[in-house]
Amino acid sequence: MEHFIVRELEPSARHFLKEVERLSDQNIFKCMQCGTCSAGCPALLSSDLAPNQIIHRMMIGRIVELESAGTAWRCMSCRLCRARCPRGLDMARILAAFRQFFLAENRERALQPESFTEMEDLQAPQILLVGALRDHGA
Ligand code: SF4
Ligand code: SF4
Repeated sequence: MEHFIVRELEPSARHFLKEVERLSDQNIFKCMQCGTCSAGCPALLSSDLAPNQIIHRMMIGRIVELESAGTAWRCMSCRLCRARCPRGLDMARILAAFRQFFLAENRERALQPESFTEMEDLQAPQILLVGALRDHGA
Protein backbone atom coordinates (compact mmCIF):
# COMPACT_ATOMS: atom_id res chain seq x y z
CA MET A 1 0.00 0.00 0.00
CA GLU A 2 1.29 3.45 -0.91
CA HIS A 3 2.40 5.56 2.04
CA PHE A 4 -0.18 8.28 2.69
CA ILE A 5 2.46 11.05 2.47
CA VAL A 6 3.45 9.87 -1.02
CA ARG A 7 -0.10 10.35 -2.28
CA GLU A 8 0.07 14.03 -1.26
CA LEU A 9 3.25 14.77 -3.25
CA GLU A 10 3.39 16.55 -6.60
CA PRO A 11 3.49 14.00 -9.47
CA SER A 12 7.13 14.78 -10.32
CA ALA A 13 8.19 14.44 -6.67
CA ARG A 14 6.21 11.21 -6.33
CA HIS A 15 7.81 9.81 -9.48
CA PHE A 16 11.27 10.75 -8.23
CA LEU A 17 10.71 9.17 -4.83
CA LYS A 18 9.30 5.96 -6.26
CA GLU A 19 12.13 5.67 -8.75
CA VAL A 20 14.78 6.22 -6.09
CA GLU A 21 13.12 3.61 -3.87
CA ARG A 22 12.92 1.18 -6.78
CA LEU A 23 16.50 1.70 -7.95
CA SER A 24 17.95 1.53 -4.44
CA ASP A 25 15.58 -1.14 -3.08
CA GLN A 26 15.21 1.00 0.05
CA ASN A 27 12.11 2.23 1.84
CA ILE A 28 12.91 5.79 2.89
CA PHE A 29 9.89 5.88 5.20
CA LYS A 30 11.74 3.56 7.55
CA CYS A 31 13.89 6.60 8.43
CA MET A 32 13.14 8.12 11.82
CA GLN A 33 15.39 11.17 11.31
CA CYS A 34 17.71 10.30 14.16
CA GLY A 35 20.67 11.85 12.30
CA THR A 36 23.10 9.05 13.12
CA CYS A 37 24.03 8.66 9.45
CA SER A 38 24.90 12.33 9.15
CA ALA A 39 26.99 12.40 12.32
CA GLY A 40 29.59 10.10 10.81
CA CYS A 41 29.40 11.04 7.14
CA PRO A 42 32.84 12.05 5.84
CA ALA A 43 31.27 13.85 2.88
CA LEU A 44 29.29 16.19 5.09
CA LEU A 45 31.79 19.06 5.12
CA SER A 46 31.59 19.49 1.36
CA SER A 47 27.90 18.71 0.93
CA ASP A 48 24.91 21.03 1.01
CA LEU A 49 22.54 18.62 2.73
CA ALA A 50 23.31 15.95 5.32
CA PRO A 51 22.17 12.40 4.55
CA ASN A 52 19.20 12.61 6.92
CA GLN A 53 18.23 15.96 5.37
CA ILE A 54 18.27 14.30 1.94
CA ILE A 55 15.73 11.76 3.14
CA HIS A 56 13.64 14.46 4.79
CA ARG A 57 13.50 16.52 1.56
CA MET A 58 12.49 13.42 -0.37
CA MET A 59 9.67 12.73 2.09
CA ILE A 60 8.23 16.23 1.67
CA GLY A 61 8.86 16.43 -2.08
CA ARG A 62 11.47 19.22 -2.17
CA ILE A 63 13.13 17.89 -5.30
CA VAL A 64 14.60 21.23 -6.36
CA GLU A 65 16.74 21.28 -3.22
CA LEU A 66 17.88 17.75 -3.90
CA GLU A 67 18.86 18.56 -7.47
CA SER A 68 21.07 21.44 -6.39
CA ALA A 69 22.60 19.69 -3.38
CA GLY A 70 26.03 18.25 -3.99
CA THR A 71 25.60 15.42 -1.52
CA ALA A 72 24.88 12.66 -4.01
CA TRP A 73 27.99 13.57 -6.01
CA ARG A 74 30.24 13.78 -2.99
CA CYS A 75 29.18 10.54 -1.33
CA MET A 76 32.12 8.16 -1.41
CA SER A 77 30.10 5.01 -0.82
CA CYS A 78 32.00 4.25 2.38
CA ARG A 79 28.73 2.89 3.86
CA LEU A 80 29.45 4.16 7.36
CA CYS A 81 25.87 5.44 7.38
CA ARG A 82 24.59 1.98 6.52
CA ALA A 83 26.61 0.39 9.30
CA ARG A 84 25.26 2.85 11.87
CA CYS A 85 21.65 3.28 10.79
CA PRO A 86 19.35 1.78 13.43
CA ARG A 87 16.74 1.17 10.73
CA GLY A 88 19.12 -0.56 8.32
CA LEU A 89 18.83 2.03 5.56
CA ASP A 90 21.61 2.08 2.98
CA MET A 91 22.15 5.74 2.20
CA ALA A 92 24.90 4.97 -0.31
CA ARG A 93 22.40 3.02 -2.40
CA ILE A 94 19.86 5.82 -2.13
CA LEU A 95 22.43 8.36 -3.31
CA ALA A 96 23.56 6.05 -6.10
CA ALA A 97 19.92 5.92 -7.21
CA PHE A 98 19.88 9.74 -7.17
CA ARG A 99 22.82 9.85 -9.53
CA GLN A 100 21.31 7.23 -11.78
CA PHE A 101 18.01 9.12 -11.94
CA PHE A 102 19.52 12.54 -12.57
CA LEU A 103 22.03 11.28 -15.12
CA ALA A 104 19.36 9.42 -17.03
CA GLU A 105 17.64 12.78 -17.45
CA ASN A 106 20.73 14.78 -18.26
CA ARG A 107 24.25 13.44 -18.46
CA GLU A 108 25.63 16.97 -18.25
CA ARG A 109 24.86 16.79 -14.55
CA ALA A 110 27.82 14.46 -14.06
CA LEU A 111 30.34 15.77 -11.60
CA GLN A 112 33.18 17.59 -13.29
CA PRO A 113 36.61 17.37 -11.64
CA GLU A 114 37.08 21.13 -12.11
CA SER A 115 34.04 21.74 -9.90
CA PHE A 116 36.01 20.73 -6.81
CA THR A 117 37.04 23.68 -4.72
CA GLU A 118 40.67 24.34 -3.87
CA MET A 119 39.99 23.18 -0.31
CA GLU A 120 38.59 19.90 -1.56
CA ASP A 121 41.56 19.43 -3.86
CA LEU A 122 43.91 19.81 -0.92
CA GLN A 123 42.00 18.20 1.93
CA ALA A 124 39.47 15.73 0.59
CA PRO A 125 40.48 12.10 0.80
CA GLN A 126 41.24 10.53 -2.55
CA ILE A 127 38.35 8.15 -2.05
CA LEU A 128 36.03 11.14 -2.44
CA LEU A 129 37.33 11.86 -5.92
CA VAL A 130 37.34 8.20 -6.89
CA GLY A 131 33.88 7.66 -5.41
CA ALA A 132 32.42 10.77 -6.96
CA LEU A 133 33.68 9.93 -10.41
CA ARG A 134 33.08 6.17 -10.22
CA ASP A 135 29.77 5.80 -11.93
CA HIS A 136 29.28 9.00 -13.82
CA GLY A 137 32.60 10.02 -15.20
CA ALA A 138 32.60 11.38 -18.74
S1 SF4 B 1 20.63 6.80 10.61
FE1 SF4 B 1 18.95 5.81 9.45
S2 SF4 B 1 17.07 6.26 10.61
FE2 SF4 B 1 18.67 7.68 11.33
S3 SF4 B 1 18.41 9.55 10.03
FE3 SF4 B 1 19.93 8.27 9.03
S4 SF4 B 1 18.77 7.01 7.54
FE4 SF4 B 1 17.30 7.85 9.03
S1 SF4 C 1 28.20 6.22 2.15
FE1 SF4 C 1 28.07 8.36 1.48
S2 SF4 C 1 26.40 9.24 2.68
FE2 SF4 C 1 27.04 7.35 3.71
S3 SF4 C 1 28.57 7.98 5.27
FE3 SF4 C 1 29.69 7.39 3.40
S4 SF4 C 1 29.96 9.33 2.26
FE4 SF4 C 1 28.32 9.67 3.80
